[in-house]
Amino acid sequence: MLSTMQDVPLTVTRILVHGTLVHGRSRVTTWTGDAEPQRRTFREVGVRAVQLANGLRDGLGVVEGDRVATLMWNNCEHMEAYLAIPSMGAVLHTLNLRLPADQLTWIVNHAADRVLLVNGSLLPLLAPLLPRMEPLEHIVVVGPGDRALLDGCRPAVHDYEELLAGRPARYDWPELDERAAAAMCYTSGTTGDPKGVVYSHRSIYLHSMQVGSAESMGLTDHDTSLPVVPMFHVNAWGLPHAAFMSGVNLLMPDRFLQPGPLAEMIESERPTHAAAVPTIWQGLLAELTAKPRDVSSLSRVTIGGSACPPSLMKAFDEQLGVRLCHAWGMTETSPLGTVALPPGGLESEAEEWAYRVTQGRFPASVEPRLIGPDGSEMPWDGESAGELEVRGPWIAGAYYGGAGAEPLRPEDKFSPDGWLRTGDVGVISPDGFLTLTDRAKDVIKSGGEWISSVELENVLMSHPDVAEAAVVAVPDERWGERPLATVVLLEGTSTGYQELRDFLAERIAHWQVPERWAVVPAVPKTSVGKFDKKVIRKSYADGELDVTRL
Ligand code: ADP
Repeated sequence: MLSTMQDVPLTVTRILVHGTLVHGRSRVTTWTGDAEPQRRTFREVGVRAVQLANGLRDGLGVVEGDRVATLMWNNCEHMEAYLAIPSMGAVLHTLNLRLPADQLTWIVNHAADRVLLVNGSLLPLLAPLLPRMEPLEHIVVVGPGDRALLDGCRPAVHDYEELLAGRPARYDWPELDERAAAAMCYTSGTTGDPKGVVYSHRSIYLHSMQVGSAESMGLTDHDTSLPVVPMFHVNAWGLPHAAFMSGVNLLMPDRFLQPGPLAEMIESERPTHAAAVPTIWQGLLAELTAKPRDVSSLSRVTIGGSACPPSLMKAFDEQLGVRLCHAWGMTETSPLGTVALPPGGLESEAEEWAYRVTQGRFPASVEPRLIGPDGSEMPWDGESAGELEVRGPWIAGAYYGGAGAEPLRPEDKFSPDGWLRTGDVGVISPDGFLTLTDRAKDVIKSGGEWISSVELENVLMSHPDVAEAAVVAVPDERWGERPLATVVLLEGTSTGYQELRDFLAERIAHWQVPERWAVVPAVPKTSVGKFDKKVIRKSYADGELDVTRL
């Protein structure tokens, strides 16, 4: 028997129309450095998005299914693109501006992007790559920049404001299939070619509802959210669409992502929420310790993308009164997977902490299972570890295969019965809280036992003289693999290896304590600010690290 309910497609178009009309007073504020911030209401943003859709269709000939790429910072124009491109039936393709040139070019060609919106400040990065970006027909430059860099390039060059100017504030939105492609994002491709995840209207709509819900970020039009996480990194964790759906004011940092400007914009614009990877919060903590600013407006901060060291969470609590809330996800999961809000009914702060430091709880739409080393499903007992697999309406079921090609379902990424293999190893508690111990490829396999690199890093980073620590597996004749600890010391400290070793030995099993140590000036980071362990392993293999053996 079928239901008697209406079957209305869940689309980004609906988010655009709703946000413009119902939340017209909410604002997108874009930081501009020294000048007065740029401020636009959702009503203005909605109208400009309609004009952009008209400009793309009537000015540049964009049709349904075309890929329109963006190479942009987090700003209001990027928000307009987020709304306009999917709503007109085209596909928003956000490009990660920190990727190496070859990967960026490969991705544009693979996605067959016809149009590219680019911030003027990024033209020096784009211009040399253009001859190799063959499918591009049009470049639309947003904001100031050295446009002479594009002289003589093959694609036609346009100005964003000119493309919008005088266009109608109405658009006959197409009736879209909710399963149609709305946006795409390539994973950073730590191994092999980058892989394209294509989000549907339906997945974005449902994901936006979850992001806004009280069990995730819990945001309403009383809030202002600061997405430091880039809009080119998994749709800024879904915040732009979720914000437009619920009227959440947005504070966009544009290209001002260094700790100083971030502290300044928090103090002056007073956001209530922010989202970023741990390395950003590490930097901000150091900045605020050196030069205090008022960041008390932040009532909640979402932190994820890599494991948040508990010491960082405690420091924010104690020194700044700001609560960091841990979350886990990945490009393939839109990205919202888990959020670590402690359950109700707890009696002490210690009990709360035990939950806060986990990766968090799964919402109903993200169904997890743990697959143990022998391929069997592991119980949720908080102890049995396995690789995490997930499925749900905003979880990828395949990668984009390229124009006209079949989707890709590599065996190491998708189980035969269609679940996403996350490559993350961990345990799940009986009440559905996930604790990750490692990425499958970063686990240290020492003499038949597994050592969690994340656990060693967390303990090391709780030492008062340690700014950052990254632990990787290195080959060992006797044990197969052993941990190598690379440590960044805080300025003005000179703690010795022996002291760090003793500090670890007091807190973890003695056989897990590394013998190999190196102090480094900085931990290498990936294009999205995570520890780049591949680079550390390579420097070690190439003999570039000054390693001390204890
Ligand atoms: P990439 O694989 O290029 O890093 P993603 O941004 O999709 O791309 O990264 C997803 C991965 O980041 C997850 O599979 C997981 O390993 C890691 N990750 C994300 N959030 C957390 C977290 N809170 N704790 C530990 N690891 C995390």
